[in-house]
Amino acid sequence: MPLPPLVEPAAELTVDEVRRYSRHLIIPDVGVEGQKRLKNSKVLCVGAGGLGSPALMYLAAAGVGTLGVVDFDVVDESNLQRQIIHGVSDLGRPKAESAAASIREINPLVHVVIHNEALSNDNVMQIFEQYDLIVDGTDNFATRYLVNDAAVLLGKPYVWGSIYRFDGQASVFWAEHGPCYRCLYPEPPPPGMVPSCAEGGVLGVLCASIGSIQVNEAIKLLAGFGEPLVGRLMVYDALEMSYRGIKVRKDPNCAICGTHPTVTELIDYDDFCGGITDEAADAVQGSTITAPELKEWMDAGKDFHLVDVREPAEYEIVKIPGSVLIPKGDIVSGEALSRLPQDKQIVLHCKSGVRSAEALAAVKAAGFSDAVHVQGGVVAWAKQVDTSLPTY
Ligand code: ZN
Repeated sequence: MPLPPLVEPAAELTVDEVRRYSRHLIIPDVGVEGQKRLKNSKVLCVGAGGLGSPALMYLAAAGVGTLGVVDFDVVDESNLQRQIIHGVSDLGRPKAESAAASIREINPLVHVVIHNEALSNDNVMQIFEQYDLIVDGTDNFATRYLVNDAAVLLGKPYVWGSIYRFDGQASVFWAEHGPCYRCLYPEPPPPGMVPSCAEGGVLGVLCASIGSIQVNEAIKLLAGFGEPLVGRLMVYDALEMSYRGIKVRKDPNCAICGTHPTVTELIDYDDFCGGITDEAADAVQGSTITAPELKEWMDAGKDFHLVDVREPAEYEIVKIPGSVLIPKGDIVSGEALSRLPQDKQIVLHCKSGVRSAEALAAVKAAGFSDAVHVQGGVVAWAKQVDTSLPTY
């Protein structure tokens, strides 16, 4: 079922615009009315990289009136294999500026807004507020969850895409009408489990396959025709040359768009998504317990030494009973290792399980071979064991 158009039509099209967009105007579903809606539309593209390049170029050519570009990076030679909005003469130039120049060359009627900065908790709401729709072309999990949460909190739709080697995915996330990214992926993958395109590579043209789906969906939502990709995930396999549509339901237990949301404001996305070393990823294999398991150990009277590796200010906010505070830095530097008992099993925890994984690697390397860490840290404890505790 088509959704109502996101944007009201502009008052009129100029003679230049009628000439330029004539191939749109003669499609009955678009028509003058649809083109006027595109003219009035404000779309933000997060990232002017692999997905952002084709997305911005086609959005510009289609006549989206205002295009915002967020990117803090500069053009590198290794980008040119797929980021076709940039050229050789742009090397070393900020991507947002380079993209803006290409957009003006494609369609000078587009008003381009350059956001030459990294998207962060400090600026995301203020930037998103200015747009009708967001196209997410980011390549890391922390920014993806940031984009999702800001979009849900502001009630904005966004078109998501992701690419890796020969595989691509795309969907429209709009909490008012369907699932959000967290409904599909409640938790980021364990750090180190999913390689980035920088580590694993990406077929350049895959960016165009997925970026063009994103533009297709953006235009449908803005002008209000067709079947939007809400509640469906498109999975593209370039090797098989197949597209599959998978139904995605809204999760009533979703942390941000469910019936009892636990995420009601932006969180610490770097902490949420982690970024642990290979050593830490190895250390946690077979040496991880859950918060409910920790509770069972306590109730069973098991003899262990519980170490909280967060910072003192965090320990003040909320703590697990019986825990001793030794900040991660003191453990990793080796300074605090002598304070750990030799005759008891060591159990480490932090806020979310990232820092404790790193501390676990150091502790195990120092000979505490039966040490474990608590998956999800004190946040998991507060959510699964003692719900009277605050989280932060
Ligand atoms: Zn959700």
